[in-house]
Amino acid sequence: MSDSPILPTPIEQALPLAQEFAAALRPHAVRLAIAGSIRRQRTVVKDIEIVAQVQPATATDMFGQPIPDAPSPTLLALPAVLAQTGWTLVKGGDRYKQLSHPDHPLKLDLFLVHDPAHWGLVYLLRTGSAEFNLALVNHINQLGWHLADNTLHQHRKQNDQPCTRGSQCSMAAVTPEEADVFAALSLPWIPPASRNPESLRKAIRARFLTNPARN
Ligand SMILES: [Zn+2]
Repeated sequence: MSDSPILPTPIEQALPLAQEFAAALRPHAVRLAIAGSIRRQRTVVKDIEIVAQVQPATATDMFGQPIPDAPSPTLLALPAVLAQTGWTLVKGGDRYKQLSHPDHPLKLDLFLVHDPAHWGLVYLLRTGSAEFNLALVNHINQLGWHLADNTLHQHRKQNDQPCTRGSQCSMAAVTPEEADVFAALSLPWIPPASRNPESLRKAIRARFLTNPARN
């Protein structure tokens, strides 16, 4: 939690900032998208959320072998992108970085996707809203499934422990796209601007009405 209050910013001011940062980082990423309340088309936003799939590391040793844990070119490019756009690193590791800007009250949350199979779920969860996510996770749990390591596992936890097999799990939904997550849940894709618990409840109800054989 930040010490200073986070002031909502009109989307007219937040969107160009997000687009400027996105344009600077996009050439260094496999794919990149603005998520969060900007994607949900809110009139005011509290932070900018950007999801970027990092480029795989290509560094090799003198024998041409890949160097284990070599940094992604995307991460190597980040300092120059920050210098160019005026954002400063507040905190974060190789999956998440929080940035601040001296001229704006907004924070920028940068979520870094390393496995293409994770994109769909990360993009969905980082789009929100928080209340939509909570209702979605509740629904997933009611199906007897669970989320672990940015993967939808279509099976129960064992001994109350989340699955550790990641996308290698034979019961993991294949969700490289956001629409794949909705499809795995037999739900229609819900437009970001409509993502709230009520729209999710309606989609779930419609699913049971049109397909009563399930569950
Ligand atoms: Zn699993």
